[in-house]
Amino acid sequence: MPAFAGVVKKEWRKAALKHGFEILGRALDRYWLVLNCKVCKTVQLKRLNVVRDHAPICHHCIHIRRISEAEAAGAALLSEPSGDRKYGLYKLTCGHTVRRQYSRVQTAAAGGYKLGCDECREARYAREAEVHGWRLIGPASDGRLGYRQYQHSTCGHTQDVMIGNMAWGDCSCGKCGQGWPSKPSFIYLFKIDLPGNPVLKLGYSARPQKRLKHQLGLDRAVNVEVPRVLPMLSGHDALTEETACHRSLLKERPDLIVPKDEFGSAINTQSEIYKLEASEIINGLLDRIEQRNPSDRI
Ligand SMILES: [Zn+2]
Ligand SMILES: [Zn+2]
Ligand SMILES: [Zn+2]
Repeated sequence: MPAFAGVVKKEWRKAALKHGFEILGRALDRYWLVLNCKVCKTVQLKRLNVVRDHAPICHHCIHIRRISEAEAAGAALLSEPSGDRKYGLYKLTCGHTVRRQYSRVQTAAAGGYKLGCDECREARYAREAEVHGWRLIGPASDGRLGYRQYQHSTCGHTQDVMIGNMAWGDCSCGKCGQGWPSKPSFIYLFKIDLPGNPVLKLGYSARPQKRLKHQLGLDRAVNVEVPRVLPMLSGHDALTEETACHRSLLKERPDLIVPKDEFGSAINTQSEIYKLEASEIINGLLDRIEQRNPSDRI
């Protein structure tokens, strides 16, 4: 590179030294310095203002560090795409190539963890589902982490299921599900205090507490009350009565329905959410269900 005639100021040398560089001279024009990395001895051009006012870094040293971090995390650094300062491409021991954030690889290496493989993981989820008669389709319909969309091989119905539940076969098909139609169930009414927008959720479940705690995906900070739970003789009865409630609300008071785009991902459901003002009407509907299904019969 063409040298540039000019002095190298003492304070520049001091600033460079602070970051592990020695200044060899100036080059190109008045904006550039030639540096030598004291660690890896690589000679490199750096802008004067970076050396003087910021923290110059040696890309060769970083490259070497990334290679060893990748190894420690059970992978090989394939490339460091230019134009992407944060992500590198890595080859894993399973043979798959993944794109990972350098900082995450660094954390994994420091913590003694191996990089996980998304492809192998999804393949494992697919195998786990297959055992129970389901086919893995892909991400959950609302993109929720910890859930996937599966298709029931018996009837073709697709639904989201928590990955952990699927692994244990703890899932029944919403369309043809064996077991749940004949087992005791509940119709429930939850009051969910979404910030600035408290709503009601009317539904049925064999285990309302579980539904409340795990499946609705509510933020921990959201306060929830359970104003009402009606025991039902069977899942089939619960579904029939609950569906009739929704149908009647849709017909009589569609203004009380809260649309999905209003609560979004705050509640992991597509519908069955109502405004607080619906409380009286819903309780009236539930009273009638209770009369038809007296608890002493259950
Ligand atoms: Zn270096
Ligand atoms: Zn893999
Ligand atoms: Zn099914």
